[in-house]
Amino acid sequence: MSYDELLDNAYSKIEKETSSSRFEMPDAVITFEGNKTIINNFGKISSYLNRDEKHVEKFLEKELAAKGDVKGHRLFLYIKIPKKQVKDKLREYFDKYVVCKNCGKPDTEIKEKKGKYSINCLACGDKQPIYSI
Ligand SMILES: [Zn+2]
Repeated sequence: MSYDELLDNAYSKIEKETSSSRFEMPDAVITFEGNKTIINNFGKISSYLNRDEKHVEKFLEKELAAKGDVKGHRLFLYIKIPKKQVKDKLREYFDKYVVCKNCGKPDTEIKEKKGKYSINCLACGDKQPIYSI
């Protein structure tokens, strides 16, 4: 193997590692209808995050001070909210309830035990209690 090939090889390895460890959420597809803000791929985002739609919905409604409804795969919020704000909140949800505080991986699940919730990491086994849900 030549030096160039070795280098290529090393680079492709680095790329692979960074792309698999960095988790990208699907970009929220947001449209407006009158005074409603609609996340059109809400179902997809929730399942990508491996979270219950109800939980993501509750978080967004609370944080954005909006009433909302899930209809099919879409989330309707009954006020107009700038797209950036909605996306920022989704990112915040991800940081708060999905990503493991210990290893940074998103392979986690929320577990309930005797009314107490925690985020359990499937990658490193870490358990983080969560107090608001
Ligand atoms: Zn972890």
